[in-house]
Amino acid sequence: MADALPGRENLSLNTDVQSAGSIFVYSDELAWFDFGSDHYFKPERASKTYELCNRYGLMNHEWMKILNPERIDESVLASSHDAEYLECLKSAGRGEVSLELLERGLGTPDNPILPGIFDWSLSVTGGTVEAMNRILQGKALTAFNTLGGFHHARKSNAEGFCYINDIVVAINEALRQYPDIKIIYLDIDAHHGNGVQEAFYDDPRVLFICMHETGRTLYPWSGNETETGDGAGKGFTVNIPLEPGTDDEVFSYAFDEIVPPLIEAFSPDLIVAELGADTLISDPLTHLKLTNNGYSRAIKKVIKLCPRILALGGGGYDLYRTARCWTLAWGALNNLEPVDEFAGLVGGMMFGPELEVGSLFDHPYSSGGEVKARAVSEAKRVVEYLKKEVFPVHRI
Ligand SMILES: [Zn+2]
Repeated sequence: MADALPGRENLSLNTDVQSAGSIFVYSDELAWFDFGSDHYFKPERASKTYELCNRYGLMNHEWMKILNPERIDESVLASSHDAEYLECLKSAGRGEVSLELLERGLGTPDNPILPGIFDWSLSVTGGTVEAMNRILQGKALTAFNTLGGFHHARKSNAEGFCYINDIVVAINEALRQYPDIKIIYLDIDAHHGNGVQEAFYDDPRVLFICMHETGRTLYPWSGNETETGDGAGKGFTVNIPLEPGTDDEVFSYAFDEIVPPLIEAFSPDLIVAELGADTLISDPLTHLKLTNNGYSRAIKKVIKLCPRILALGGGGYDLYRTARCWTLAWGALNNLEPVDEFAGLVGGMMFGPELEVGSLFDHPYSSGGEVKARAVSEAKRVVEYLKKEVFPVHRI
């Protein structure tokens, strides 16, 4: 790891989560904020995750802290969003409607004008930034904010269910406090993390790595492998677009070929990870076909290479399966195996499809035929491209 953080001698010595500590960012009130009954984005996934973590013995350990997020000071947002946009978002939070707001992406089906949305976004961002600060201060090795991860929000407009980009705000805060810090942003959400890419496109201090469904078939229609950064940041943006029908096997192949070598070569001080669970076969919005086996395998590999992680929720529109993914992720971050404490109890509390009580893992799934063949050949092509164009920048 790089010797960038003042006082980071302590940080680098203790990479054992069970003595260094972990933080679960959570608030019942924020989890029950309602985007509307016909909106796909349901913050209540966070509450289901919290319940599942409790049920599987992954909460209430002495090294864990629950962080109830507080509203971030508005001045902290200035590094990441422009003032006019924030004023528009504020008036959207008062329920006001105008043409000017629409020009900023506010008042669309994806980003409706919701009373309270400004305050809610400030609180969620407050949770992400406070978790980042505590990791930087050595008060925790890792943190998970399942309410956060709004990777589509842009500097001056809302889009893709995202209003304030808590990820960009938190990374900018880290860079302000420790200008030499080396951060990897790793995004395994099914959608391209366009807002984060844009914010650090020419900045070599942030290595942006994003696996997602190809922009040919999914919003935000970007994230081609040829988008590799600009200026001093050339080679520090890495996009791994995946074909519809990509399963665990194809995902794992592309991940293994690209992500671990980059983490080892870049040697980050910390990783900010967007752990969206909308890559799953059951997700109603995307066309990837992962199970949570491929998802958790990737996360465990990342943790082994760099256990200092600020994890964020992001997408995931099959609520129950998203909660299972995030429960597995929280277990992995804490080096714990989930054990169903209710298994075998007749009439015990049931959660989701009852057949699956006792295990958090999905049944394995494999794509086939032409769909699989195309997913494999495209993944190979993208991997070869990145090895040729990006790896040399990192002396790999
Ligand atoms: Zn997504």
